[in-house]
Amino acid sequence: MHKKHRLNTFLSEFPLYKKFCAVEKFLRTEECYTNPLYLHGETFSYFCENEKEIKTFELEAPDYSLDFWGNMRGDTVPEEVLKENDVLDFTHHFVGKCKSCKNYHVDFLLHIWSDNPIPKDELNTFRQDDKGEYKPVDELNLNRANIYIEKVGVKPEPQITIDKNIQKYFDRETGNWYYKGIRCLSENFGIGSFAYFRRIIEKELIEILKEISELNSSDDKIKKLISEYSATTQIYSIYENIFPLLPKSLQALGDNPFKILYKQTSEGLHSLSEKECLERAENINLILKFVVKTLYEEKSEIQKIRKAIKKLK
Ligand SMILES: [Zn+2]
Repeated sequence: MHKKHRLNTFLSEFPLYKKFCAVEKFLRTEECYTNPLYLHGETFSYFCENEKEIKTFELEAPDYSLDFWGNMRGDTVPEEVLKENDVLDFTHHFVGKCKSCKNYHVDFLLHIWSDNPIPKDELNTFRQDDKGEYKPVDELNLNRANIYIEKVGVKPEPQITIDKNIQKYFDRETGNWYYKGIRCLSENFGIGSFAYFRRIIEKELIEILKEISELNSSDDKIKKLISEYSATTQIYSIYENIFPLLPKSLQALGDNPFKILYKQTSEGLHSLSEKECLERAENINLILKFVVKTLYEEKSEIQKIRKAIKKLK
């Protein structure tokens, strides 16, 4: 069996030029994305500008395309989607329509390709292996292709949405860097995005920690640690030693989020590839969002309990 992945996460969330593995180890008998018609009817969640809400969308190939590809033989992979060496490679226009209002739509230009040649004949054939057993030829093929897909165009451009907690938490300057960092992420600009996130950590990490030290669920020693080391240049010692003093909700991560975030600012940007920067920026964003969210939750927990105590007094 090959592994075919549905395109919903890809269509809903992936930025431009980020590749998604749509099929692993292609087998000719299994249904897959070797023809634009196979993408027709895929559903995914997307923001409807008419209804201002996330709705279910359906991907459609345009009518001319349905006519053209629909008239092809069903048992072979069409020449039109293959390059000369039989590697899959085509770009096609699709329309995602909101199934709720049946009016709003988004245009996608999708590029689909494989890393190895695809057998043109879609019918399976059998051949003897070393032991004389008959097996499907694809199973004997050690270089079965993976099929990838990326967005090369989206219209209208997706809106950048900033996490609500983050928006409340940062000041104007950091909020601006954060927006630019996310914007770079949405266009798959790794180095740019990572640079913005590093600036945010350099400026905000100690501030976040100071706020955490004010929480009832934090150990009092955090404040001591901060004042001890803030005066020296050994600020990293704070992050190294903070873990057992953090609120349980942050300790639940199992790893020290402050140490990990701080480490991101110490390594030179020039030693990292575009792809590595992109991965790091994505992960920093996830950790940062989690830490800020936890901080807010802990704060509101305290407020709730204070209110409850007041009422009982
Ligand atoms: Zn709609």
